[in-house]
Amino acid sequence: MAGGAGFLGSHLCDRLVGRGDSVICMDNLSTGSRENVAHLLGHERFSLVVCDVSEKVELEDGVKVDAVCNLASPASPPAYLARPLDTLAAGSEGTRRLLELTRAHGARFLMASTSEVYGEPEVHPQVESYRGNVDPVGPRSVYDEAKRFAESLTMAMHRTLGVNVGIARIFNTYGPRLSPGDGRVVSNFIVQALRGEPLTVYGDGSQTRSLCFVDDEITGLVALLDSSLTGPVNIGNPDERSMRDLAHFVLEVTGSRSDVVFEPLPTDDPTRRCPDITLARRELRWEPTIGLREGIERTIDYFAQMVEGP
Ligand code: UDP
Repeated sequence: MAGGAGFLGSHLCDRLVGRGDSVICMDNLSTGSRENVAHLLGHERFSLVVCDVSEKVELEDGVKVDAVCNLASPASPPAYLARPLDTLAAGSEGTRRLLELTRAHGARFLMASTSEVYGEPEVHPQVESYRGNVDPVGPRSVYDEAKRFAESLTMAMHRTLGVNVGIARIFNTYGPRLSPGDGRVVSNFIVQALRGEPLTVYGDGSQTRSLCFVDDEITGLVALLDSSLTGPVNIGNPDERSMRDLAHFVLEVTGSRSDVVFEPLPTDDPTRRCPDITLARRELRWEPTIGLREGIERTIDYFAQMVEGP
């Protein structure tokens, strides 16, 4: 598991260890953290290797793997905008090394791609056949194009060398273990609401996202891992909300009396995003089951333990 100490990676480690798999977690701990997997350290079927998969991917002699999951990349916009070259390296060099490992072991490769491959979408909701609208030189391109390249490389290894691959396009996901300073919208709004600080809506807040609770996302990723589907396949929750509505929803569920303030919209921030999950429903028999209220409540419970009130 590359990126196994990150937000999604650590939840995927939990799920796989929990069902009896052995997991080698590789992470450079740049945006992931040891705390995310602290409860797994010492487990007989889990090990953490601190390394950068963009530079080297090596297993101990005699170790055999039957799956390689590539979740190694900064994922929050402020995080990847602060690490543009590392993000490009993770998508390109990191993905190449992990695909080579997969091939050497005759394993299955799970590529964690993103809805960002659709950029500013002209097709709504986004179907997998939509090719996207990405500015290749815009600031977000370091993430979008790295993931597009990773998909291309994954497909090339599949077509030319027969590597067994599955590509997931992950839409906005939230839940426990997002870091309070991560910068993504759900963690920002919840932390701000709990602290009694103003909720920072970027732009006029009319832009939309479709938010998936982490447990559902992991179930979808495991379904893809266990299948023989190549994809790409959208794994996300089609419950689409404007960011202004989300801010008020978080205020309602937390009972916070924080204000809502408006701040500048980041460059190239997509105006709308919603997955078409027909393919995942049909091929993986997967769809999300946890609604926004329950998911937000469970995320609030997590942040309430670590954030001081006003
Ligand atoms: N956003 C916001 N306030 C925040 C953080 C984000 O209004 O404090 C907006 C952001 O502009 C975007 C949406 O929420 O339109 C989702 O942002 P996020 O960074 O979570 O992920 P993205 O979908 O942009 O990768």
